[in-house]
Amino acid sequence: MKIGVPRETAPGERRVALTPEAAAGLVKSGLEILVERGAGEGAFHADAAFEAAGARIVPDATTLFAQADVVVKVQKPTPDEAERLREGTVLVALLQALTSPELVQRLATRRITSFGMEGIPRISRAQKMDALSSQANIAGYKAVLIAAESLAKFFPMLMTAAGTVFAARVLVIGAGVAGLQAIATARRLGAQVWGYDVRPVVKEQVESLGARFLAFDLGVAEAEDKGGYAKALSAEQSRRQQEMLAEKTKEFDVVVTTALVPGRPAPRLVTKETVAGMRPGSVIVDLAAEAGGNCELTEPDRIVVRHDVTIHGPTNLPATMPVHASQLYARNVSELLRELVKDAALKLDFEDEIVKGACVTHAGEIVSDAVKAAFAAKKSA
Ligand code: NAD
Repeated sequence: MKIGVPRETAPGERRVALTPEAAAGLVKSGLEILVERGAGEGAFHADAAFEAAGARIVPDATTLFAQADVVVKVQKPTPDEAERLREGTVLVALLQALTSPELVQRLATRRITSFGMEGIPRISRAQKMDALSSQANIAGYKAVLIAAESLAKFFPMLMTAAGTVFAARVLVIGAGVAGLQAIATARRLGAQVWGYDVRPVVKEQVESLGARFLAFDLGVAEAEDKGGYAKALSAEQSRRQQEMLAEKTKEFDVVVTTALVPGRPAPRLVTKETVAGMRPGSVIVDLAAEAGGNCELTEPDRIVVRHDVTIHGPTNLPATMPVHASQLYARNVSELLRELVKDAALKLDFEDEIVKGACVTHAGEIVSDAVKAAFAAKKSA
């Protein structure tokens, strides 16, 4: 069975789906690895390192797609790439299937067996495959470094002969994987940190990192679904949340927002009026920029200054740390492959929770319940 690793084509994408180390592990399990020339360059993995790991370098994507039985990618395929996959190919990538109906339909029509890494269930057995966590961890860390770099103040408190400098006050909204890493990183830099999330269960996790938890009662009975993800708020709850946050946000130098609800636009938490009320020189880093932003004034992949507040809207921070991002993603992908491929042949058990969660299309059909439900909801909206 041949596993193909193409060069990523999305602008700014420097990650690679398998590293030489991960490739060596798969070669040991009896798989053949094909790597497009230069695929590892952005993450500083030379073709020679892949060859030393037992992989074969192929000259271009056309050759790779023509030969691979399984194609592993970081980003979802472009329409052109999706057209070039051979019928029956297995595709593994961060497909963002819930919000990519055209791509998913195309993959089904082309009889591609596709797996979205984002659909791996959050269960202990699948932790090694959890790419959302491995990549969100990087985004949370980097968001705080961007904030610190952009802030015209120190993060830590300093007592110097020239006077005392008070620690920066940082608010992290959304205390999932990215948010908790942002809290930990801001604490390491010496800031005073507060965390906020609509799921009250994270209070303890926030506090265990030495931060304080902001609690508002929005009258939400069940804040999370059975997968542990936040549910969307009603319009009234959302309005109350914006009001409460507007009041609180004024007190902070830095606001890092990470709030997401799978398959939906990011909740709007920081309105333009809230930004206008913040202290001049404050910084917002909006990690939800790709899903429309938690801040009303965020512009994806841009840094804008509004009301003297600098607002960053990065959409792909993991790609800015391609070495570790690729190392961790490659491990996630390898573990999924080990689950799917037994004795060098694909064995799909649709009763298995991991296959059920991550498989999006198979044998000409959309097979994921979550994806089917999201598309049906969209149609009826
Ligand atoms: P996510 O990226 O979907 O969302 C980020 C955070 O935003 C979440 O904590 C969410 O509650 C919060 N949020 C959403 N709407 C909000 C709003 N209106 N206001 C404030 N906050 C809001 O989440 P994630 O980081 O992927 O984590 C989702 C869940 O999965 C968490 O419970 C996490 O602990 C859990 N998890 C479990 C495992 C595992 O068991 N293997 C692994 C990773 C994550």
